[in-house]
Amino acid sequence: MLSCKQVAALASDYLDRNSLDNNTQLKWQIRLHLLMCANCRRFVRHLKITQQVGAGITKHASPQDAEMVWKKLQAHIKEETQSKQK
Ligand SMILES: [Zn+2]
Repeated sequence: MLSCKQVAALASDYLDRNSLDNNTQLKWQIRLHLLMCANCRRFVRHLKITQQVGAGITKHASPQDAEMVWKKLQAHIKEETQSKQK
């Protein structure tokens, strides 16, 4: 069983579909951990959004677009934090 720290360290590789392709066992270990650990699920989800936002910025390269996606991301994180506190 992986620790949260290990999952966090491997999360970007896990999201980058190709990089863990030759390590199916590790991929499943991460998947298993995510099934059982809500903290890491949230972490991976946010990381995914951040990567998508990053990709969007490079693609469009417009400051307005970048600002818009960052605002969306911030709103999303704020929403999650608030629902967690309830
Ligand atoms: Zn965890």
